[in-house]
Amino acid sequence: MITPLRSLAIRMHPNDNVAIIANDGGLPAGTVLPEGLTLRDKVPQGHKVALKDIAVGQAVLRYNVPVGFAREAIAAGSWVHERILDIPPARELQDLPMATVPAPQWAQLEGHTFEGYVNANGSVGTRNLLAISTTVQCVAGVVKIAVERIERELLPMYPNVDGVVGLEHTYGCGVAIDAPGAEIPIRTLRNISLNPNFGDEVMVVSLGCEKLQPSRLLPPGSFPVHDARDKDKGPDLVCLQDDEHVGFMSMIDDIVQRARPHLARLNARRRQTVPASALVVGVQCGGSDAFSGVTANPAVGYMADLIVRTGGTVMFSENTEVRDAVEQLTSRAATFKVAQDVVRELGWYDQYLDRGRADRTANTTPGNKAGGLSNIAEKAMGSIIKSGSGAIASVLAPGDKLKPDQKGLVFAATPASDFICGTLQLAAGMNVHVFTTGRGTPYGLQACPVVKVATRSDLARRWHDLMDFNAGQIADGAMTIEEAGWALFHMLLETASGKRTWAEHWKLHNALVLFNPAPIT
Ligand code: CA
Repeated sequence: MITPLRSLAIRMHPNDNVAIIANDGGLPAGTVLPEGLTLRDKVPQGHKVALKDIAVGQAVLRYNVPVGFAREAIAAGSWVHERILDIPPARELQDLPMATVPAPQWAQLEGHTFEGYVNANGSVGTRNLLAISTTVQCVAGVVKIAVERIERELLPMYPNVDGVVGLEHTYGCGVAIDAPGAEIPIRTLRNISLNPNFGDEVMVVSLGCEKLQPSRLLPPGSFPVHDARDKDKGPDLVCLQDDEHVGFMSMIDDIVQRARPHLARLNARRRQTVPASALVVGVQCGGSDAFSGVTANPAVGYMADLIVRTGGTVMFSENTEVRDAVEQLTSRAATFKVAQDVVRELGWYDQYLDRGRADRTANTTPGNKAGGLSNIAEKAMGSIIKSGSGAIASVLAPGDKLKPDQKGLVFAATPASDFICGTLQLAAGMNVHVFTTGRGTPYGLQACPVVKVATRSDLARRWHDLMDFNAGQIADGAMTIEEAGWALFHMLLETASGKRTWAEHWKLHNALVLFNPAPIT
């Protein structure tokens, strides 16, 4: 698919009338490309050069798709940047091709395994963590200090437990809790408590007077219990306003003591060999550049196809970054119903943005543009490649949890915000995360390992102890997309088996950030 011109410029499709300059630092005006084209302007790395004369109003084609229309005449050899392009209008959500592309006829991939923690419901954890759920931000400071004490005093006695995660968030009170949309943050918090990396241990700290009461966060029957006699009870709960708490230390002591039986059960677990089909991979990008769609995302797409072929689950997300590729999504849907679900989620999101007088074009950042991405249409074409080429088997609404039989490629509808997307993919049941970045971000999650993939060798060199994989080797000609996809697939199995990522090594993680489309009071 890539046509390198002696590694100076990369064209994604033979019909494209632009190519991406790959050289570190870009190329100066006057450079003669191997095909004889002379650059009329300095073209920064990752930016587009016109391969042909482009008339006013003519489409600029990348990936054989219009990523913009020329606002002025563009001579061959010119720098093609966002200021001389008009963005194509968003595709209407009517008359879309629905489930028109036949699913690829792939041979199953057999024999690939990893070492994971099997839960009672059959889901598999890649880490063995104690999570402490919270109903409201008010308790966050207390939980933080209790977690520090558990780590210091208790964890050395439970060496098979990887860590303790306080599930802090900004929701729970001061919110219109019955407004339309409020169910999204509530079910997100509930479902994160049930993430496979938390080993079916549910423990909650509440304040007492908050709107999000423990019985609403985790009603009886919504979470696993160890004794069938407890099935009608609420979760194991520490309520700070209870009369029994006299002084701050009694709250901390209560949380610490309450953690013991959970830690003991987690500590008794051992990794066991499970098929690769137990992987639930969330893929995401952040800090994208023009290389994202050339190197890292195609490699991740190839890896996604491999995981789907093992019978595993791959979630892709980021509504505003797939909106311009909606035809690809609906046509790749496995059934008409799945295509309708795609339209429902993206239509709802269009309305959500419209309420804020915004649309998908609000997505792109100054860094995206500095990295050569002119607009959201170009960014979307590079982003969607992460999903590979499989049929879309199902669609998840924000905050929903995958059902045990929801395997294959899943479109989990989320905002594109890195933290919100990661938070919602955790709620869906992700047990390992793959994150591509071109500009570079030290992103990490506490609840789940994050494999970070650099789009360029320059970034991989500078951030050598933050990036787990260098997909820039594809642009350098040192690796094919297929080789990078296989290497990532094997790295994912190792990571799922316990090998630490750079973010885990440094204990780097971002906050959980909830998607709350409902009003704050
Ligand atoms: Ca993102």
